[in-house]
Amino acid sequence: MDHVIAIDGPAGSGKSTVARAVADQLGWSFLDTGAMYRAITALALRTNVDVHDHDAMAALASGVVIETVPATVIDGIDVSDEIRSAPVNDAVSVVASQPLVRAAMVRRQQEWAKRQPRGTVVEGRDITTVVFPNAVVKVYLTASLEERSRRRVDEDVTSVSRRDQIDSNRPSSPLRQADDALYIDTTGRAIASVVEEIVTCLNQRS
Ligand code: C5P
Repeated sequence: MDHVIAIDGPAGSGKSTVARAVADQLGWSFLDTGAMYRAITALALRTNVDVHDHDAMAALASGVVIETVPATVIDGIDVSDEIRSAPVNDAVSVVASQPLVRAAMVRRQQEWAKRQPRGTVVEGRDITTVVFPNAVVKVYLTASLEERSRRRVDEDVTSVSRRDQIDSNRPSSPLRQADDALYIDTTGRAIASVVEEIVTCLNQRS
């Protein structure tokens, strides 16, 4: 299935809200890849696997079954609430910086998209650059740090900027704007107008 809209951006840029709304409008599927990295982190914390141990985390990531819709479920355990907790916020970027964990997640994301009957809207940090570099529309969504941390009601500004710092500076698939991505600053903008901009871009290209 080649119909992919790929959206990347830092924490609180509006990716999930916008991606979900675009998917709803088009009747496409939606994948929140951040929930996958959060789920594997939650499972490691639950089972006392050291999140800094690359081999142990790689073994965990390669064997698990993860669903993100309608709830985030890993190996049959519903972690939908847990993935938004402070311990997961603190550890998720460390887990997501590990190349073998990423490889296991990227493979699942690509396979998942192939199984969708229509198009898919996928959001994360490396979706436009690594996972779906040939997406029909690529978007880099951002907003001011103030607005982004205001939107993350469950996370303080220090935690949001710490995650951004790690996600943007890791050697493996860092967050960056793809050269051909549409840059959208959502600061002070209504969701509907951002959704319209993305759908218009899709219509121009199809
Ligand atoms: O999008 P969300 O804030 O829920 O993502 C949580 C964390 O998962 C990010 O801070 C990042 O470390 C990681 N992530 C990633 N690659 C993705 C999606 C999320 O590294 N495609």
